[in-house]
Parts: sequence; structure tokens; C-alpha cells
Amino acid sequence: MAKGRYPRCADCVTKVCENREGKAGDVPSLEKAPAYCVMKLMPQALADAMTEYDRPEVREFARLASLQEFQCYERLPDGLRTKLPRVEELVQFARKCGYKRLGLAHCGGLAREAGLLAEVLEANGFEVISVQCKTGAVPKERIGIKPGEKIAGPEAWETMCNPIAQALVINRAGVDLAIMLGLCIGHDTLFIKYCKVPLTVLAVKDRVLGHNPLAALYAGETYYRRLRNKID
Ligand code: SF4
Repeated sequence: MAKGRYPRCADCVTKVCENREGKAGDVPSLEKAPAYCVMKLMPQALADAMTEYDRPEVREFARLASLQEFQCYERLPDGLRTKLPRVEELVQFARKCGYKRLGLAHCGGLAREAGLLAEVLEANGFEVISVQCKTGAVPKERIGIKPGEKIAGPEAWETMCNPIAQALVINRAGVDLAIMLGLCIGHDTLFIKYCKVPLTVLAVKDRVLGHNPLAALYAGETYYRRLRNKID
């Protein structure tokens, strides 16, 4: 890849890849795509991706995911409407895939939400195993946290978040699908690294914005304008 030329879809206004005006079967021309377009810079990666879809199990999974996406909309006389919150989407998709046992990896701070979600999933016929981040009851000192770095104060016991344990428990519980609910940044990274079963995310943690990190971006022109400055 030429220096300074790397994929930047987030900056692209052409969205040639979406081919919005095209009819089925039309292949979009790359002429109007920017120089940093992935399709111009990394065609081999895109070709390799399509080879992966040729594996029957991958193709079928991708087909079911796209079918689920389709079912999240309805075409009404006044236009296209969305119709499913993610929880319902999760139930429908897990059912489509034929999953029976689901593994919920949740934050201790979202124990109530985890209980509510387990209820919904169980009411829909799934078996749910759940494991929260504090499992193992290992103190934070075990990973080198100093007394002054504990949230509850230097004298307090503080259990470390243990995403690797969550992943190993879920891997060994024979679940068909793992669901992440509200893990912290970094802890989620470790969970993803160690989780060996198919994984989806119901929600990520945002302690300030009701677990909706995008709210800061939506208010980025007003109340969160400070995000444009260098963040300490
Ligand atoms: S793939 Fe190319 S055309 Fe599509 S958004 Fe990225 S840069 Fe734009």
C-alpha cells in the first residue's frame, strides 16, 4: 500500500460500493470512487473474503445474517420502516441458526439487565448459561493494580474483572452462541480474544450515557464538542 494511502471509508462521500441507484445485476464502476477506496487499494483482500463465503457453512451463516437483516424492516405504503429492537433480533437470529444453548458474558454492573435478558431468552426456549465479569473472586492486586488505583479506595477489597475466565467458562459450557453484555473496554477485547464460540454483542458499556456510546457523537456538535479537542 502506498504511503499515506490507506482505506478511509469513513471519509467517503461517494459510497460507490452501495450502488444505490443500481439495478440487480449492475456492477458499479470504480471510476468515481476515491483513491483511498478499499476496492482500489486492496482488491486481493476483497477477493479472499469472497473465497471464504464459498465455504458452505460460512455462506449459510452469512445468508441467515442477511435474512435477519431483511426481517428487521417492513415495506409500508409510506416507505421503509424498521421494526425490531436488537433483543428481538437476537432471539430470531439464534432461532434461525438452530441454537439451543446461549452463553451470556455480562458485567457485574449490568447484573439486572443480564437477568432480564436471560428471562427473555428462556421464555423463548433457549437454555442460558451466564457468567459475570467478577467470577473467580480474584483481587485486582493479582494483575498489578496498586492500592491507589482501586475504584473503591486503597483499603477496600476489589475483585478484578476476569474476561478470560468468562470466555473459558463459556467455551467449556458447550454453548452455541456467546452474547456479550456491557463488558468494559479492554475487558471486552480480552473476552473476544479468548472466546472460541460464535459471538455477538448485545450492548457495550458506557457508564455515563446509558450504555449508548454513540450519544456522545450525536451530541458532538453541541454538548460533547470537546471531543474534537485532544482527549486527556
Ligand atoms: S469501499 Fe470505496 S466507495 Fe465504498 S465507502 Fe469505502 S471508499 Fe467509499
